[in-house]
Amino acid sequence: MPRIAQTPLIALVATMLERVGAPGPIAQQVATDLIEANLQGHDSHGVQLVPRYVENTEKGLINPGAAAAQVGGAGAMAIFDGGMGYGQVTGRQVTAWATDTAAAQGMAMFGLRNTHHLGRIGAYAEQAAAAGLISMFFVNAVSGPPMVAPHGGADGRMGTNPVCIGIPKSPAPIILDFATSAIAVGKVKVAFNAGKEAPVGALVTHLGEPTTDPAVMFGQGPRGALVSFGGHKGYGLALVCEILAGALTGGGTNQPETPKDRGIVNGMMGLVFDPARLADNAAFAHEVQAVCDHVQASAFGHVLLPGDPERRAKHRRMQDGIPLDDVTWGDLSAAATRIGVDEATIRAALL
Ligand code: NAD
Repeated sequence: MPRIAQTPLIALVATMLERVGAPGPIAQQVATDLIEANLQGHDSHGVQLVPRYVENTEKGLINPGAAAAQVGGAGAMAIFDGGMGYGQVTGRQVTAWATDTAAAQGMAMFGLRNTHHLGRIGAYAEQAAAAGLISMFFVNAVSGPPMVAPHGGADGRMGTNPVCIGIPKSPAPIILDFATSAIAVGKVKVAFNAGKEAPVGALVTHLGEPTTDPAVMFGQGPRGALVSFGGHKGYGLALVCEILAGALTGGGTNQPETPKDRGIVNGMMGLVFDPARLADNAAFAHEVQAVCDHVQASAFGHVLLPGDPERRAKHRRMQDGIPLDDVTWGDLSAAATRIGVDEATIRAALL
């Protein structure tokens, strides 16, 4: 399995995105955020997406220079249209608006519609936490036929719809960030690429029967579906994401009238607020630390906080490189070659 170094991998991906029309700073931002997902252990949201981003840009489904523009709302509430720009850019931009607004007014709420894939949503919670702010994000994803079966159903009717909550804490924030499907669809793709099985309880066949075969999503046969995590609870959260991120923002939900051929389209509702406006800062920090210590003291100290697994993965991968399966590296290097990136730039990423 190839191991890849962070800095030349960012350079390779940025070069690829520039080749298909992304302005330099945007290409750099998207590449950096994708590789940050790999570093944090979420290969589903890392460079395995690049061939698809390249294709979507070539097809005109991504507007590579677009920024988010405010199209509604006033004061601390705003609706932004992402103009089908790269989500790594529009997502950071609207989060910056929210952190500035919350710093001045105590809180901010936004809707973001018509943006290409927002990637790892935890990036935006980290951005808000770095400014000392609590954040909550509800996201829906409309990209091709819906992937996730509702609880009690048997075919895809919703997106993988992530929910993310970030809470500032010293020395590192709590970042709870997960797809409402049993696993992220990118993880099914990573398993398919690696010739591995998907975890038990994540997939059903087109007949609604449980399976661990990722080919039901990416193979040639009849298409199956992901299921929600936690049965009716994850399903309920996924439905709420469709409504808050898709209906409320005007971006559209996974219902049949919404076009499904626009690439990877995300909607996002975000709420960002300053805990100091509600609670005494020192008392809040003390109580957060105390409850985290209490929880972590269970089972001889093996309990992690949300965000810890990602920080551990990053520490490891910064040292050892990013392991990419052969299919992912093969697809990435083939896409780079196809759009004219020279062999030296491609091979420079390999450790
Ligand atoms: P996951 O199942 O790995 O869960 C990750 C969350 O659980 C993190 O907050 C992590 O810190 C926490 N966690 C994991 N193990 C833990 C443990 N042992 N103790 C305490 N906390 C623990 O994540 P996922 O559902 O596979 O999602 C992966 C990524 O995919 C996320 O970043 C998500 O935002 C992203 N995603 C994006 C989209 C999109 O359309 N943009 C769609 C789906 C998912």
